[in-house]
Formats: sequence, structure tokens, C-alpha cells
Amino acid sequence: MSLIVQKFGGTSVADFERIRSVAKRVAKSFDQGNDVVVILSAMAGVTDSLLHMANQVAVSPDKRELDVLLATGEQTTAALLAMTLQSMSYPAKSILGYQAEIITNRNHGSARIVKIGANRIKELIKKRNIVVVAGFQGCDTEGNITTLGRGGSDTSAVAIAAAIKADTCEIFTDVDGIYTADPNICKKARKLSAISYDEMLEMSGLGAKVLQIRSVEFAKKYNVSVHVRSSFSEEEGTMVVNEDSNMESLVVSGITHNKDAARITLKKVPDQPGIAAKIFSPISNAKILVDMIIQNTRAGGLTDLTFTVSKNDFRKAMEIENRVAKEIGAEKVFGDENIAKVSVTGVGMRSHSGVASKMFTTLSNENINILMISTSEIRISCIIEEKYTELAVQVLHKAFGLDKD
Ligand code: ASP
Ligand code: MG
Repeated sequence: MSLIVQKFGGTSVADFERIRSVAKRVAKSFDQGNDVVVILSAMAGVTDSLLHMANQVAVSPDKRELDVLLATGEQTTAALLAMTLQSMSYPAKSILGYQAEIITNRNHGSARIVKIGANRIKELIKKRNIVVVAGFQGCDTEGNITTLGRGGSDTSAVAIAAAIKADTCEIFTDVDGIYTADPNICKKARKLSAISYDEMLEMSGLGAKVLQIRSVEFAKKYNVSVHVRSSFSEEEGTMVVNEDSNMESLVVSGITHNKDAARITLKKVPDQPGIAAKIFSPISNAKILVDMIIQNTRAGGLTDLTFTVSKNDFRKAMEIENRVAKEIGAEKVFGDENIAKVSVTGVGMRSHSGVASKMFTTLSNENINILMISTSEIRISCIIEEKYTELAVQVLHKAFGLDKD
């Protein structure tokens, strides 16, 4: 008998029929003698339509009230699942974030969990209830409702699993696990049986949107084993675990790509202290996130500086830098929206050399020019022309031995 946390995402509870199949799945685990705590998302599309509603009544809706509104999506599914389970004669009770004592900071819209009491959950489990918790929500120390940011019910699930010391945290979603590359563009991609927290963190950061990144940070911090699997099949998915657990010994475990990138170059910038601050302060004041930065020196006390932002922020960033360029006496600003980032990730890089050179050789064999490079301890990313994205992913996937036979 185990204590199991099961989280179901929006597509898994998208309509009544699917809610019924979630109920059956939960009931099955319960019948096997397990204690089950279920965390739910809102029905697919509901959070978006609630946001849309808010925008009908206010130009920039109050953040506190917005959280009150958004939290209703999860309140709805939690109650519906509990009713469904009860109608199947199972003892189920739904509770909201505040009742589960999910205490967050006051940052409405992307609040961080600071503490979980979970006494109520534990009491309900003791009385052999199936506990259904509304995901995505908590409350601050004054009892104001908060939400955890888009995709936040993943974090609710992992945090609750940590708080009640669950044996496993299963994340049921619309994909059947974590793949070595996006199967939509790489036909030879295969499902990984396990992946480490660090690899998952890198991949989430690179745009692989299976888990909210904060949930992985939580899982790593509290050593929660997370099982990402499909709610539409019985098949095993991918375990997100500690590095030393028995993982496949792959040097590189995944090739990711992100087309949401654009680059901006300031040419012939005077090479003096304080210049980088002048270039990037207005960008961060505009709340624009910068991904990669490179600076190359030229003769005559001048340098070129290039950085990347998401495509959405490109115009804004160009405007800002055109102004900055005049101010600091840079010669010219160039922009390029047709770029993409491809990355190879793997903890094996810590102990294997030659990954970078293999990546660069593989790309050059296809005549793909590398525009920028960045690395972390377990990742190498290259900026390339966007039109080569699919090709790059496919050839790298093959070169690093990831193709399924
Ligand atoms: N319903 C929220 C969202 O759509 C939270 C979640 O699904 O995890 O972002
Ligand atoms: Mg999600």
C-alpha cells in the first residue's frame, strides 16, 4: 500500500466523459489499497476564457481579483471529480488551496509556495477518503487567494507530494512521457524511461513544456520522484528522478529546439566600463528577458554586442536599442527575427568530452551556420537560421545515437 499523488491536466478533465475516466483511474488505485490524493487543473481552455472575461470588464484587471476569478476553474473540476467519485460509491472530498493550507507569498498571478500545512489532507486520508485538491491555487498569510502561474497545478502536485511524503507523484498529461526530441519534427524520437531533475530543468527552460519549471525545482529540492505519463493509456511514462537512480547511461539525453528567438546586434560600440549596463538596463526595465549575450572585440576600442530575446519582445527591444545606440555612440543596430535555438542536453557531458565538437561538426556537415553558442554544465545551445531547425534536430538526434531503430 502506498500514498500516491495523481495530478491530471486540463486535457485530461476537458469534458464529463474524461472526468469519468479520471475517476475510474483514481478508483482503481484506491481499490488496490493505496491512499490517493488527486490534484486537478481546470478544464482545458477554461483559464484562458476566464482571463478573457476579466479583460471584458477591465483594461488591466486587479491582480487580487483576477486570482479569485482564475481559481474558480480548478474549484469546478475538483468538485465535479469528487461528485463523480461519490456517484460511483467512493468516499471522496474536494478541498481548495487554502483549505489544504498552501501558503504562498503575495505575488498574485505567479505566487510562490512558502509553506504547506496539509493537516486537512492528512486527516481526510486517515478516514480513508480520496482527497481531491484544486491545483494552481493557494493563499497568502492574510487569506487572500493567489495563483501559481500558468501550468501551476504541476507545482501544486509536487509540493503536496513533498508535504505529505507521498511515495510517488504521478503527472497525467496529454503526452505519454519525455522524449529525446519533439516527435512532431523528429520521427525517430523515443520516450525516455527516466530523466534527471537537472536535465528536465534545462529542457523546461529550453521550451519543452511538459512540466512547469517550478514543479521540477520543487521535486529536486525535496527529492520527489515524478512520473510523467499519459492519462489516455496504461503505459509507463518517464520518471523524473535523482541523477544516480538507475538511468540509461546516455551522454546526451535530448535535443530540444525553440523557434521563439530573435537577435539584436549593436555594431561598433565604444568598449568602455558601463556600456553593457546602458544597453541592458532599459531592456530589463521593460521586463524583457534576455537569453544569450555575446560580445566580440574589434580594433580601435570598439566592440560588437549581440543578444537574443523572444520574438514577441523583438520590436520593443529594437526600439529601445535604437535609442541607446544614439546615446552611447554605437554605429548601427541590426535585428534578425529568423533564428532558432537548438540544444543538446545531458548529464553525461559532465564526464564526457567532445560533445561540443560533435555538435558543431554535425551542423557544419549540413552546411548549417552557427550564429551564437552558449553552454551550461550539462547543455550546449546554438543559434542557427530558423529554416534549418528541423534538419538540425534530426541530424543531431542521429549523431548522438538517440534514433530509435
Ligand atoms: N489552469 C491553469 C493553467 O491553465 C493551471 C494548470 O493547468 O496547471 O495554466
Ligand atoms: Mg500543464
